[in-house]
Amino acid sequence: MNNFSEYLPLLRGALKKIDEWRTLYGDDSSGDLPAHLSSHAIESVLSELEKKLRGNYPFHHPQYAGQMLKPPHPAAWLAYSLAMTINPNNHALDGGPPTSEMEKEVVKLLANMIGYDSNHLGHLTSGGTVANLEALFVAREIHPEKAIAATSNAHYTHSRMCHLLRSDYIEIPVDLNGSPDLDFIESNAAKIGTLVVTMGTTGLGVVEPLDDILKMADRFGFRVHADAAYGGFFKIIENELPSKKQWQQLHLCDSVVIDPHKHGLQPYGCGSIFFRDASAGKYFKHDSPYTYFTSDDLHLGEISIECSRAGASAAALWTTLQLLPLTSSGLGSVLRKTRSAATKFAELLSRQAGWKLYNTPDLDITGYFKEPKIKSIKEMNRISRQIFEAGMKNQQTGFHLSLFTIGADHFLQKYPEYTADNTRAVILRSVFMKEEHEPFIDELSERIFSVETD
Ligand SMILES: *Cc1c(COP(=O)(O)O)cnc(C)c1O
Repeated sequence: MNNFSEYLPLLRGALKKIDEWRTLYGDDSSGDLPAHLSSHAIESVLSELEKKLRGNYPFHHPQYAGQMLKPPHPAAWLAYSLAMTINPNNHALDGGPPTSEMEKEVVKLLANMIGYDSNHLGHLTSGGTVANLEALFVAREIHPEKAIAATSNAHYTHSRMCHLLRSDYIEIPVDLNGSPDLDFIESNAAKIGTLVVTMGTTGLGVVEPLDDILKMADRFGFRVHADAAYGGFFKIIENELPSKKQWQQLHLCDSVVIDPHKHGLQPYGCGSIFFRDASAGKYFKHDSPYTYFTSDDLHLGEISIECSRAGASAAALWTTLQLLPLTSSGLGSVLRKTRSAATKFAELLSRQAGWKLYNTPDLDITGYFKEPKIKSIKEMNRISRQIFEAGMKNQQTGFHLSLFTIGADHFLQKYPEYTADNTRAVILRSVFMKEEHEPFIDELSERIFSVETD
């Protein structure tokens, strides 16, 4: 069953029960269409919408290996739809008692996955950017006079958020493999209050060396925040990863961000933030005149920058984790396949004459390029674009990749035989984040390798 329309009977059954619950409060007209609208009118606009939606790239299909995009798990979609008809708001316990409970349950599961003890503090957010903002906000409150540092491979929103927070931002240079310049960190250590380690960079999925950074943190006293928005769920299969040693120390970070809407099979609108020490909550405490309290329990809205948050997001994640728990045979089985797709692709590419693998995948993202006849950066950039565009010409036999730009200096250090006729080098990049990618890798690589370039 891979057609979403086939899940409708499941949703219909559950919605009937919700309708019954609604009528327990007495008959009302809230579920009726307003008098001026006919169901035909909705149908006709929906059909217009459906036509517009066809303008999307095929994010669902394994021929799409471009950006970090894929449809949610069907269970997440069903749960979200069901909960959304009630529209609970997890800004306060009373905004949605059951979905707030579900949020607490999933927060516990995620904190366990990270390896935090019961003294942690965490909640869902509407995404990774806001989750990181909370971490950086706490970072600034704890060390107001110091800077926040991250590598040049960190997500671009970190420097933006530092600007927003009026915090100094230090960009740490990286070497060819994406490893931070430790000497640079050491010489700037006195100025750094919190250092952001990216566990799976957005570009090429590089897992930064948390072990080295934690040793330096011990020596120099700075805090460490792990941005695991993309990579976080790979913690489940850490024993199978070359970066195992880094993941094993995740629990030593002062804060961690993980995006369930990236590798947690959720629809957009679901990030999460965790603090190892619950005392971070004191920076958020507020007494809003608008929120309404009927219990002394911790209100998730009290420890969050955002006010309204979709209770449906918590319901969707909770439902998904009942079916696919955070274990090796649960969600781990999905991640194992995505990584296996990437390593398989990397192997095939390394054996393919005329193609070069730019990075051995740490997670499930690869960078690569086809060698141009004349070895110059400009020529390579042209060939990369040619392949990228060729893939999108045929719906049935095509493919979708992304272009990735690197500084020419880095590229030339790796490939000194190339003429430096451009400041930016453009290579191809594939995110193999769907389990469906794994059985499709032979076919996909065949399609990519057979593109004729001039
Ligand atoms: C995606 C991503 C973010 C931003 O998260 P959003 O959910 O898109 O706001 C931050 N950091 C990393 C490493 C990411 O991959």
